[in-house]
Amino acid sequence: KLNVELQNLKGSMRILCRVRPLRQQEDGSCVHLRGLGQLSVLDKGGSKEFHFDTTYGPKSTQEELFDDARALLQTVVDGYNVSVFAYGPTGSGKTYSITGGGGKHRGMVYRMLEDLFRTQKERAVLVSLQVKISMFEIYNEKIKDLLSGGVGEQEELRVSTDKHGSVHVEGLKEHAVESLQKGIGLLELGMSVRATGATNLNEHSSRSHLLVRLAVSGQDKRTGERTSGKMYLVDLAGSENVSLSGAEGKALKEAIGINRSLSALHDVMLSLSSKDHHIPYRNSLLTRVLSDSLGG
Ligand code: ADP
Ligand code: MG
Repeated sequence: KLNVELQNLKGSMRILCRVRPLRQQEDGSCVHLRGLGQLSVLDKGGSKEFHFDTTYGPKSTQEELFDDARALLQTVVDGYNVSVFAYGPTGSGKTYSITGGGGKHRGMVYRMLEDLFRTQKERAVLVSLQVKISMFEIYNEKIKDLLSGGVGEQEELRVSTDKHGSVHVEGLKEHAVESLQKGIGLLELGMSVRATGATNLNEHSSRSHLLVRLAVSGQDKRTGERTSGKMYLVDLAGSENVSLSGAEGKALKEAIGINRSLSALHDVMLSLSSKDHHIPYRNSLLTRVLSDSLGG
């Protein structure tokens, strides 16, 4: 149902589905890609159909995925805010897609940064572009900056709304990066801080959201005109925490309690897709933080 409703948001929202390769202990796939964004899932003898803007099979590469997302960067350079989410249960490939491994396995975050610095160089004569990186996580409705101070020293940050209605994460560090190398160094630092804080990284990431924010400000060298936009790249908590199908009543309430942010995001998406006047951004930290980068 969610899927069909979100389809009506063409233009402002895209839903891409990526199927990861089977692992050794998995002996057969119940997912079949049918082309044109259609996918069917075998389920208890029947089959269910799903529709997406695009689907990517198990052999799809990080580069192919990025090729479809890179246009968002231009949107940010033009002064708009965008968000990219990886959603799915633990083990489905969210982290692989968003951060990924090394070399050709590197994910969206690295590729966005590379493209950003390529653009910066290419347009240097016409515009000056400045890039700032922030990185934080939301765990148990608490925000933790991953790029401030030493390991274990992170304070809990608060979110405030100013008189113009803009949302700020108070005290969140923004690091100006002049080079790709420096940007990559920061990303790696943030990921190591996250890993060190967690006793079991897998369990931790299944319950927390990782947010990387790339803020881009530009100035036209001829006219002096300024723009500022930002991109959030979000590796969401595992969706098994909010099982929207199956669980009902008490079980559903419990599942939602584990991760309020994820269910609040679901409500916001539904609300945006039905073009409600009131969008319930205030129901969780995640949706509050992202409120200027979701509906515009
Ligand atoms: P999640 O973050 O959703 O819990 P991961 O990204 O950690 O899942 O993926 C689970 C495992 O599957 C990891 O070992 C990851 O390297 C591998 N994997 C996920 N997606 C792909 C893919 N598209 N191609 C190759 N390996 C993948
Ligand atoms: Mg993960």
